[in-house]
Amino acid sequence: MRVITTIQEMVAERSSCASPQKVGFVPTMGYLHEGHLSLVRQAREENEILTASIFVNPTQFGPHEDLASYPRDLPHDLNVLENLGVDIVFVPTPDEIYPPDFVTYVDPTGPLVSEAQGAIRPGHFRGVATVVLKLFQIMRPHQAYFGQKDAQQAAIIPVKLHILSTIREADGLAMSSRNAYLNPQERAAATVLYRALQAGRLQFKAHSHAEASLVVRAMVDTVGTEPHVHLDYAEVRDPDSFAQLEVLRAPALLLIAARVGPTRLIDNFLLRADGSWDIGILINA
Ligand code: AMP
Repeated sequence: MRVITTIQEMVAERSSCASPQKVGFVPTMGYLHEGHLSLVRQAREENEILTASIFVNPTQFGPHEDLASYPRDLPHDLNVLENLGVDIVFVPTPDEIYPPDFVTYVDPTGPLVSEAQGAIRPGHFRGVATVVLKLFQIMRPHQAYFGQKDAQQAAIIPVKLHILSTIREADGLAMSSRNAYLNPQERAAATVLYRALQAGRLQFKAHSHAEASLVVRAMVDTVGTEPHVHLDYAEVRDPDSFAQLEVLRAPALLLIAARVGPTRLIDNFLLRADGSWDIGILINA
């Protein structure tokens, strides 16, 4: 596995790939868990050359967010990626991606970026879109792999993407690098996001074409049973436009975001247009 830290070297390495070879790309912020690995495994199967990146992107963190404390373990991550057969991993420094004279950002607009995560994290999707488009230009993949967990992030990226199911712990908690922040009490309480989504899904199934507020109420009430969890939002939205649904119908996204102690967690269930649900995959069960 080649570990590359500069854009110049990465572009040269990419140019040396034979043109008919299919190049897959898995962008990450590192501290890799099974959710990331599911993306890497699938990408390995579907591409001749597999690339990944590890970059904690400063521009998608707000001024009071957890950029400085975001968990990092590069030796572990490189070992894992090598074992899964990644060919090239790009690990730039912040200065490499954002040199001191950097001024040009991608600034998406509309409900996709102003609502849900966008409302709570102003500027977040500007940072995400900027880094993803920079990485796409540097890596020039044919296919890129993202997780359903970050549904809104996946929706703003204007290229064909492979979106894979959310990988969950045995008790339903969606895997996240930020789960490392949770103390044992918070870790137990954090399962309420999954329980709330399950409660919302039950209402959805029982009341098709009823008001979406029924599902929202089920999610809000479930979160209300955990005194140490503060709900940021529980919503039902269209997965493509991110418009809020008034009436329950497919396709739909059940979205939830909450703070467990100081840690912000997000999760979602997807109801596809064909009526099937993607509620993620429980592992270690
Ligand atoms: P991150 O390192 O958190 O920026 O995530 C990198 C990629 O992994 C993104 O496309 C995420 O959506 C995806 N991802 C994160 N957590 C999970 C999970 N539990 N299951 C599946 N994919 C995930």
